[in-house]
Amino acid sequence: MQGLSEQAGVIVGVANKRSLAWAIAQAASAQGARLALTYQNERLKENVEELAAQLAPAPLLLPCDVSDDTQVAALFEAVGRELGGLDFLVHGAAFAPREALAAPFVETGREAFRVALDVSAYSLVALARAARPLMGTRGGGSILTLTYLGSERVFPNYNVMGVAKAALEASVRYLASDLGPEGIRVNAISAGPVKTLAAAGVSGFSSILGVYRERAPLRRNIDTAEVADAAMFLLGPAGRGVTGEVLMVDAGFSVMGM
Ligand code: NAP
Repeated sequence: MQGLSEQAGVIVGVANKRSLAWAIAQAASAQGARLALTYQNERLKENVEELAAQLAPAPLLLPCDVSDDTQVAALFEAVGRELGGLDFLVHGAAFAPREALAAPFVETGREAFRVALDVSAYSLVALARAARPLMGTRGGGSILTLTYLGSERVFPNYNVMGVAKAALEASVRYLASDLGPEGIRVNAISAGPVKTLAAAGVSGFSSILGVYRERAPLRRNIDTAEVADAAMFLLGPAGRGVTGEVLMVDAGFSVMGM
C-alpha cells in the first residue's frame, strides 16, 4: 500500500502546470489520495479544471479565496460533506501586490503589507482552524505549507514576501504546538527558486535562479517533482514523527556561507 492511499486531502494553490501545488497534487493522486483542489475565482477555474481532468479519480473542484473567511468555511463544509473527513491539507497560496516586489522594501505601504501577510501567512492559520474538526474525525492529520529562504535572508525584490514567509514559518511552529496533541502535524517545505507564476512577480527572479545554479552544493536548481517527493514524506506515514519543521528542498543552497 502506498503512502497516501485512501487518504483525503485538500490542495490550495494550483494555478497552472508549473505550480508547486500541482506537482504535489499529481504525486498525492498517484499514491491513491482522494483530492479536493481549489481555485481562487471563476477566471482561474478553467485552468484548474483542465489540470484536474488529468487526475484519477477526478478531484473535487471548489472555490476558495483564502482571504475570505466565508469561502474558507464553505470549502471545508463541502469537503466534510463530499470526502467525509480530511487527512491532509497543502497550503500553496501566496500573494503580494506587484509594486511591493519591485520598489525598495522601505517603501512598502501599509495596505500592501497587510494584503501580503493576510494572503500568504494568516491564511494558513485560517485553513488549519477550519481543517481541524475534519482531521479530528480521522484521529489526526498533516498540514503542509510552502515557504522560501527569503524569510531569513535578504533576496533582491523579495521584500514584503520575505516578511510574510517569516510570519508563515513562525505560524507553522505555533500551529504545530496547538494541534500536535490532536495528532495533527504542521510542517513547511522551503523550496529553492522555481519559475512559476508567483515567482514571475518578483523582479529579477532569473538572476536568483542563476546564483543557485552557481553556488548550491548540487550546482543546479530544483524542480517541482523534488518538492512533491519531499511533500509525500511530510504528508504521509514516513513523516509521522516530524512536526513544526521547515524542510529545505533547495539543492543545499542554504548551507553555504558564500
Ligand atoms: P503559483 O503557481 O503562482 O501558485 C501560487 C498560488 O497562490 C496560486 O495558485 C494563486 O492562485 C494562489 N493565490 C494567490 N492569492 C490567493 C488567494 N487570495 N486565495 C487563494 N489562492 C491564492 O506559484 P508557486 O511558486 O507554485 O507558489 C506556491 C507556493 O510556493 C507559494 O507559497 C510560494 O511563495 C511558494 N514558494 C515558491 C517558490 C518558487 O520559487 N516558485 C519557492 C519557494 C516557495 P491564483 O493564481 O488563482 O491567484
